Amino acid sequence: MKIFNVGYKSSNYYLIDADQYCLAIDIGWPGTINDYGRQLRPAGKRVQEINYLIVTHFHVDHAGLVQELKDKGVKFILFDMQIQSIAQMEAVIQKKMSYKPINLEDNIIITLSESRKVLQSIGLSGEVIHTPGHSGDSISVFLDSGDAFIGDLRPENQIMEDDIVSKNSWLKLKELGAKRVNPGHGHSFEV
Ligand SMILES: [Zn+2]
Repeated sequence: MKIFNVGYKSSNYYLIDADQYCLAIDIGWPGTINDYGRQLRPAGKRVQEINYLIVTHFHVDHAGLVQELKDKGVKFILFDMQIQSIAQMEAVIQKKMSYKPINLEDNIIITLSESRKVLQSIGLSGEVIHTPGHSGDSISVFLDSGDAFIGDLRPENQIMEDDIVSKNSWLKLKELGAKRVNPGHGHSFEV
């Protein structure tokens, strides 16, 4: 398994090459599909060679290209608890952004409790957990290797004292055994 940061425009997007299958975690702003494709070159991949996509939450800098990837054959793994956030994101996207709305009919919709089985089927050992704090729909992808992809959950040392929700999300991540944290913005860090 290899992990690549294929981010741009001050956001991190990740590509996990699990030998047989390739999983993307988060993707960029609307209208930036060419930037994204360019960032895949060091990983030796083209957009069409990505098999699956998961987004950590529905903010436009993390989910703005979902439909464009799907149109290139990428299968979108959508968690049932995230579905209602799509409309919320799309309601605030400005027209000038050349955004392609997400087709709700052709996604792979699963529950978080099914995530381990689904990741297994694409060659990855790990699970997806609910880690709210930054947004209610925020999830983290945890791999048993200790790598965690947390989207925009704040680093633990930047959480306000009374932000119990974010603190609980970190508790869950640490209980699972998160060691290397790959955030949506900024550098990766060790726990
Ligand atoms: Zn966000």
